[in-house]
Amino acid sequence: MSDICDKLQTVHARIDAATRQSRRDPHSIQLLAVSKTWPAAAVREAWHCGQRAFGENYVDELIEKARSLADLDIEWHYIGHLQSNKSRAVAEHAHWMHSIDRYRIAQRLSAQRGAVRPPLQVCLQINLSGEASKSGVAPDQALALLHKIRELPNLTLRGLMAIPEPSADFTAQCAAFAQLRELREAANQAGLGLDTLSMGMSGDLEAAVAEGSTLVRIGTAIFGERHAR
Ligand SMILES: *Cc1c(COP(=O)(O)O)cnc(C)c1O
Repeated sequence: MSDICDKLQTVHARIDAATRQSRRDPHSIQLLAVSKTWPAAAVREAWHCGQRAFGENYVDELIEKARSLADLDIEWHYIGHLQSNKSRAVAEHAHWMHSIDRYRIAQRLSAQRGAVRPPLQVCLQINLSGEASKSGVAPDQALALLHKIRELPNLTLRGLMAIPEPSADFTAQCAAFAQLRELREAANQAGLGLDTLSMGMSGDLEAAVAEGSTLVRIGTAIFGERHAR
């Protein structure tokens, strides 16, 4: 068995253990393999181990890998910051976009997606810590924006995404993820019907699962330590 297959199995085992701990159905959590900075060959290898959903942070890498792996049934998720002038590539190549952080980018993606393709599945990125350096919408602005995004024709609004402050402390990790869970509860009380909480990475997936994550985004634990781009 290859190294990537081995590591994928370990990640699945971590997810299973976390779901047992919190008495959740293991099938309620999707594993997104974050392949940023890794070559198409690594993605192909993970695909051969059964992985189908991959996350990319950079538009140039998304385009290149989507093209060179067009023979595989991959579900592409864009999870990085998106500049307006690069939105067309995401509208054309991605199945999901997790990092909507302003109305204008949602409008562009909807227009560029068009009505012929299936709708782009989208999440609103929330800035939980309020740091100016982080992308994402402030929690108190989320509901109004979600209502507007929901009206765009070629997007399907699925949920919320966040990248909390890194912390090695399980309780602190849980507290941040709980904020996102509560925001989804508030949104759903307002009738938004969000089914996705995109939260949890290699270092904190257990806390994310404990707090209701439905999709964990895992890079390092599957592909290894990344080198600078
Ligand atoms: C890189 C990245 C991940 C994966 O992080 P790891 O710690 O390597 O698992 C998840 N989500 C986003 C948005 C990322 O940029």
